[in-house]
Amino acid sequence: MKKILVTLAFLAASAAVFGQDKTKVDPETGFPLPQEMEHAMTEFWNPQPKVVEPGEYVGNPAPSDAIVLFDGTNLDAWQSYDGSDAKWEVKNGAMTVVKGTGDIRTKQNFGSFQLHIEWREPRNLKGSSQERGNSGVFLQGIYEVQVLDSYNNPTYNSGGAGSIYKQSAPMANPTRKPGEWNVYDIIYNAPVFHEDGTYRVYPTVTVLFNGVLVQNNTRINGTTEWIGLPEVRPHGDGPIILQDHENPVSFRNIWIREIK
Ligand code: MG
Repeated sequence: MKKILVTLAFLAASAAVFGQDKTKVDPETGFPLPQEMEHAMTEFWNPQPKVVEPGEYVGNPAPSDAIVLFDGTNLDAWQSYDGSDAKWEVKNGAMTVVKGTGDIRTKQNFGSFQLHIEWREPRNLKGSSQERGNSGVFLQGIYEVQVLDSYNNPTYNSGGAGSIYKQSAPMANPTRKPGEWNVYDIIYNAPVFHEDGTYRVYPTVTVLFNGVLVQNNTRINGTTEWIGLPEVRPHGDGPIILQDHENPVSFRNIWIREIK
């Protein structure tokens, strides 16, 4: 055992001396220190979700017991994250991200729910990967179902449209062309926490994307971080948050049914 430890220490020290990698070494023991996480460490490009042509768009008007969060006319159900009025543009029955005005959140908080939300990417978007039509739907304010122009736009597989961001790749990619409306139907079960703040029951989510199942009762392991691993953060009911990622993504026909 001692021999192995000495060998490990030597290898770590050698790597540090020759600068072969960025591993930092404890100066006293010679052992490698934990690396700082970088965003690329949680980005895996293969396999890419298979492309599926969705069927014709079918509108889903709100059923009678739904809470309508956006009917195309106003942002009364929404506010900016800091509590001020939501500043996104409402026009032609849709709301659109106004770059730099920040995320918006529902005034009401929710536990478990069924959520219907439609989103559209503008035509002629520039950029690629995460820099093309990025937005997001945050469940209880902290778990992101990614919104991205994933039409002919590869990115790391748990970062495309229909992913649980950096946790679960979508099972298929049925994204419509920019300029056409996409539909998410999201069934979300809120977590239950132990007293120590860990999950007793993990949150789970099912996502139908343009009528195609892309998340099947997927377990959410914690917050959806850009850098680093999911964090478990105890919480109660929370809002739906829509992300301002500085791209002019539009939303419409948003309604929710609470699961009690
Ligand atoms: Mg996003």
